[in-house]
Amino acid sequence: MDCLFCKIVDGQIPSKKVYEDERILAFYDINPEANIHVLVVPKLHIDSANDINKENSKEVAYIFEKIPEIAALAGITNGYRIITNSGPDSCQSVMHLHFHILGGEKLPEHIR
Ligand code: AMP
Ligand code: ZN
Repeated sequence: MDCLFCKIVDGQIPSKKVYEDERILAFYDINPEANIHVLVVPKLHIDSANDINKENSKEVAYIFEKIPEIAALAGITNGYRIITNSGPDSCQSVMHLHFHILGGEKLPEHIR
């Protein structure tokens, strides 16, 4: 499949890993929008949050179980924001579900 994040999961494209296990991968965003900016992806390909269903939602729940540990591993100590873009109006640019973890600084209160 021609999917950037599947290729990162496969190791075909390198990434700076924060955490990995058999179900998920967390790595630093190549173009950080906060002092600390990590992406968390399921290894199972899911296009976007709009494609979460009964069959794959366990992977999403597992990501949220692991986010506190991932944030701590990335050095986030004072809170973080979790963002996922879904579909054209959100400006989703990679069609493999991912959660942005933003922290390491006081973030702006509003996103627009
Ligand atoms: P989104 O716009 O929500 O789809 O987010 C995609 C994110 O992937 C952006 O923040 C990009 O900076 C990031 N990104 C794109 N290519 C890479 C890469 N090779 N390694 C790490 N992050 C990437
Ligand atoms: Zn994928």
